[in-house]
Amino acid sequence: MTPRESYDQFVIRLRQHADLAAALRLMEWDQETFMPAGILESRARQIGALAALVHERQTDPRFLALVDDLAARAAELDPEQQVDVRETAWRLGRERRLDTALVRARSELHAQARGVWIEARRVDDFAVLAPFLQRIVDMERRVAGTIDPSRPAYDVLLEEYEPGMSAAAIAPLFEGLRAGLRPLVDRLRARLERAPLSSGALCGDFALDAQRHFNRIVAEQLGFDFTRGRLDEAVHPFSTTIGEDVRLTTRYDPHDLRYGLYATIHETGHGLYEQGLDRHAWGTPRGHACSFGIHESQSRLWENQVGRSAGCWRHLLPLARQFFPQLANTSLDAVLLAVNDARPSLIRTEADEVTYNLHIILRFELEQGLVDGRVAVGDLPSVWRERMQQDLGLVPQTDRDGVLQDVHWASGAIGYFPTYTLGNIYAAQLMSAAEAALADLDEQLASGDFGALLHWLREHIHRCGQRERAPELIRRATGSLPTPGPLLTHLDRKLAVLERA
Ligand code: ZN
Repeated sequence: MTPRESYDQFVIRLRQHADLAAALRLMEWDQETFMPAGILESRARQIGALAALVHERQTDPRFLALVDDLAARAAELDPEQQVDVRETAWRLGRERRLDTALVRARSELHAQARGVWIEARRVDDFAVLAPFLQRIVDMERRVAGTIDPSRPAYDVLLEEYEPGMSAAAIAPLFEGLRAGLRPLVDRLRARLERAPLSSGALCGDFALDAQRHFNRIVAEQLGFDFTRGRLDEAVHPFSTTIGEDVRLTTRYDPHDLRYGLYATIHETGHGLYEQGLDRHAWGTPRGHACSFGIHESQSRLWENQVGRSAGCWRHLLPLARQFFPQLANTSLDAVLLAVNDARPSLIRTEADEVTYNLHIILRFELEQGLVDGRVAVGDLPSVWRERMQQDLGLVPQTDRDGVLQDVHWASGAIGYFPTYTLGNIYAAQLMSAAEAALADLDEQLASGDFGALLHWLREHIHRCGQRERAPELIRRATGSLPTPGPLLTHLDRKLAVLERA
């Protein structure tokens, strides 16, 4: 076969895998949204069967041989084709080194540890989880060593989520961020000691039907295409992509408008990215999201940079009043305080923008320590308490509010946490580049016109797929490699608003 013919065969196969994976995701989405509770067992079986089929197809020796052949002849392909072959070969190169027995043992351990984590939280005792966490750390080290024994184990694990990043590249970024956050947290504490922030403007009684309608309109105005997607409800909001069909979920609190709205805007950000991928390249790496960090940058940009800004609320407040007449006399300033409320907290998922990244930096350092042996599993609760005291001036009284709060490590996701803060760093950098490129962006947001910003993101991020890895993608879009400066500037401005209130 000529390289062109081989490449065409390769794309046909990639698209078959993508279609099967889409069917799998549809079943998973249904399980989290509309599936009747009584059929869980049969659904689990169906999902298992389809997942096995997808895996079988992806690791079929004929397909692997096709990819190897193309990779060997990459110089004869055009640059676009090279991207697809390079990224596919890279990902397969990781997967094929793990034999079936190891993959099965790993996923059984993760499933078991997840159950133990639930129990450990219930009895509020880290000692219950500790032996399983030790087994997970050992397992992940083994997996990393099998994939690439020549590189630090933590980097190999991290690249599953953020290809092209390493602990050595992240550490200075996070160090710079942490050094810049410390004085901000001190200022926040001083502000809160002076007087409590009055942040109740969006609390009260908000009918669920009105919230559903309002949230849908917000997602639509931000640019989400409802002819190619849906917005539903789930216990833990998430989004997923079924081919061209993007499913968002959110969750409402009848007494707090912020809860549903920010979950919706966050997931809409993920959804806009998926809807903005290059449709002509579907099923191939060029038509696929770049990394977890870049994905999170899209959700955080819309949620935090746009959705908590004065410009955006100049538009959203009159809209919200149409659905919730009780907001008739609520001022813009009061709403801005409500949506930018900040206070140090023990729980990551409840943290505000100012303190959130300190929670992540702590986890990034601890998980690296676990993998390279500098931190013993048994010492986690005490190290956790020490660092929380240092960073936020708070000490968890229980493991549940400390080291047991997140499921990530117990489900084997070591190397995942940094993508949250990378997302925040990328988001601030992208927003500041977009502001420079689009002269009157704030005025556009205030008039409910999100199109120019979305177009800018489409051009600089969405349509690029996996042509470049995250650091290079950010450099191209913003003119500099990832840097914490714009995020610190953004947080400094927020804090100034709180200080004036
Ligand atoms: Zn997200």
